[in-house]
Amino acid sequence: MSQIIALGKFREFFLTEVEEAYAEVERTDSLPDHVHRRAAEIGCYRLTLPVEYGGYGMSVTEYLPYLEAAAEGPGVGRMLVHTTNGIWRPIHNFGSEEQRAILPKMAAGDAVVAFALTEMTGGTGRDLKSVARRDGDFWYVSGEKHLITWADRADWFLLVAATDEGGQKDSLTAFLIPRDTDGFEIDATQHTMGLHGTGHAFLRYKDMAVADKYRLGAVGQGLEVALFFLDYSRVSLSTTMVGLAQRALDEAVAFAKRRVTFGKPIATRAQIQTHIAMMHADIEAARHLVRYAARLCEDGKDFTAQAATAKLFNLNMVGRVTDLSLRVHGGWGYTKAAAIERIYRDARGFWFEEGTAEIQQLVVARHVLEQSSAA
Ligand SMILES: Cc1cc2nc3c(=O)[nH]c(=O)nc-3n(C[C@H](O)[C@H](O)[C@H](O)COP(=O)(O)OP(=O)(O)OC[C@H]3O[C@@H](n4cnc5c(N)ncnc54)[C@H](O)[C@@H]3O)c2cc1C
Repeated sequence: MSQIIALGKFREFFLTEVEEAYAEVERTDSLPDHVHRRAAEIGCYRLTLPVEYGGYGMSVTEYLPYLEAAAEGPGVGRMLVHTTNGIWRPIHNFGSEEQRAILPKMAAGDAVVAFALTEMTGGTGRDLKSVARRDGDFWYVSGEKHLITWADRADWFLLVAATDEGGQKDSLTAFLIPRDTDGFEIDATQHTMGLHGTGHAFLRYKDMAVADKYRLGAVGQGLEVALFFLDYSRVSLSTTMVGLAQRALDEAVAFAKRRVTFGKPIATRAQIQTHIAMMHADIEAARHLVRYAARLCEDGKDFTAQAATAKLFNLNMVGRVTDLSLRVHGGWGYTKAAAIERIYRDARGFWFEEGTAEIQQLVVARHVLEQSSAA
């Protein structure tokens, strides 16, 4: 196995090779295989996986600068790093030996796992409408999902369905379902505003027979499996918001230095400097907030509220920063020739990915109210 690549070289891959491939990504809305192969070669998929499963075993705090660097490039690049380095966790924690055997393949880039929770017809969580009914050694799974990242190329789907209709915490069960299961329809025609190339799809299944050996975790443990992934993932996703915002600032600064109006670069104007200062302060605050949540996670402390706080702050931050960067670019920024045009669209996905701002507000407010000693 190769050595861990230096951070500078890692960043360079996203800012050169992934950037260069991006015209093709926009045209086809899919990931070119050579980008995926190069990502595997430089170890993108191994960063945090445990050493015994072919990973580098990086701690969360060691990993975050790498993820932030990946996020400075097109969204498709950071999505490769973010998803693979997160989705192994529930498989490792809840999986059987047979299921864990997928992990070395993920590390090498030879297996992709997608996370399938969201539904058009159900709410995420206990309100899911997908159902799985047991008959002997098989489950018969019916329902639909949508917006499933990497569904175009996933070999496995970590899919959550209701296994009783009690609407209780223990009414959900997780499965790790192979792509080629009979009756599994994967319709990769769900094209998004930004984040092109990340292969979103609708999934449909009706009485799809899934052997019990594909269950991930115990019956009724589905919510725990999903949250085990999502809690960690809030830290990871919040870090990618910092990386993308930093790129938006870098683009704004470069443009402000070269764009001359009325005989002077706009970077010399107080209004533009104010925008730059506000962007910088926002990004620094966001970076420190997420690194604090990461330290709690690493120390084995309860980090749920801190991760939701970081996500809530950072997704507002990346909205503000990309707005200001676009404004600094003037009308040119609104054209396809400017990187900020893509950055702006990619940033809007954060409002929804792995839970909306409104849901983070609920988590944070619940935490604050519980902690308060006021009568
Ligand atoms: C780029 C991208 C990638 C994604 N990747 C995946 C993936 O890989 N796997 C996957 O499963 N999903 C994925 N999703 C889906 C994403 O997780 C959901 O869009 C998100 O969780 C919101 O759910 P929803 O779309 O059903 O919104 P809805 O639940 O329909 O919400 C609509 C609005 O109502 C608000 N709302 C809903 N319920 C409540 C409530 N109880 N209280 C207050 N407000 C509420 C929401 O905040 C939102 O403003 C992805 C989405 C995007 C944009």
